[in-house]
Amino acid sequence: MSGTKPLLEIRNLHIRFRQRAGGEPLTVVDGVSLSVSGRETFGLIGESGSGKSVLGMSILRLLPGSAVVEGTILYDGDDLMQLPKKRLRRLRGGSIGLVPQNPATSLNPVLRIGRQVIEPLRLHRRLSRQQAAAQLLELLERLGLPEPERTSRQYPWQLSGGMKQRVLTAIGIAGRPRLLIADEPTKGLDAIVRKQVVDLLANAARESGAAMLVITHDLQVAAKLCDRVGVIYAGQLVEAGPAAELFARPLHPYTAALLAAAPNKELKPIPGLSPAPGLRPQGCAFHPRCPHAMDRCRRERPVSAAGEQAPGREVRCWLYE
Ligand code: SF4
Repeated sequence: MSGTKPLLEIRNLHIRFRQRAGGEPLTVVDGVSLSVSGRETFGLIGESGSGKSVLGMSILRLLPGSAVVEGTILYDGDDLMQLPKKRLRRLRGGSIGLVPQNPATSLNPVLRIGRQVIEPLRLHRRLSRQQAAAQLLELLERLGLPEPERTSRQYPWQLSGGMKQRVLTAIGIAGRPRLLIADEPTKGLDAIVRKQVVDLLANAARESGAAMLVITHDLQVAAKLCDRVGVIYAGQLVEAGPAAELFARPLHPYTAALLAAAPNKELKPIPGLSPAPGLRPQGCAFHPRCPHAMDRCRRERPVSAAGEQAPGREVRCWLYE
């Protein structure tokens, strides 16, 4: 971790969802702590259903009413969970930008693309109508959208999934945020567009000095974009550390398995399935899939330990006690 004061600091975050049918709320995020410093790109990686997107949405308080959130989320020293709604609305799309996943539902279907990108430019950067219109075309062009003028006049349903994803990226960076949360920014994109979006995010962060929290299941994207990475499994952060070191020498057995399963590696699938919330086993949640599981792993939940042999790294596994 860099020595500067974190811009975003999450402490012991728990997120549970109340069930309609009653019963115990389901735990989706289970005691996660992490921090992102100014200008740093932090990647949160893990399989689908691990809780990483829910964690991302909780930062801007965008979870549904059934969510029960406990813990602390500090942004630039402000406790986001206690911030009045008016101040939170000003942060959203301004100081904190969001590239949500699911382009099919995240754009307003009845507003033209241009209007949706211009809104943060006018609202958060206070650009004149003319300046905002020029910025809009520049942004769409930088994102590789063909015929930016024509695209700006179109409605979301007239665009492909990849084009919608790029428009969402444009909206996310339009307000020149200090922190950009990008939730699966390359999901569903072909290799060429994926590279364009990754390059654009990297450039946008570099040019504006923004910090980024990138939530992704794509390890290549994380390796390309991130300074540090956190690995999330069954709602728990099981490993964290500098990206280059973590990818070169994973400590946690889940991280090692995740890397071995990547398309550019051995493509060796992880046996079994990630447990659904409510079905997480006692002890270490990874033990049914772990080749190193010991008796203790089945009984006791491992605590997070700073890697003594590997400074700057954290790992939650009994092998490193
Ligand atoms: Fe495997 Fe045990 Fe470590 Fe869990 S605590 S990852 S089961 S060795």
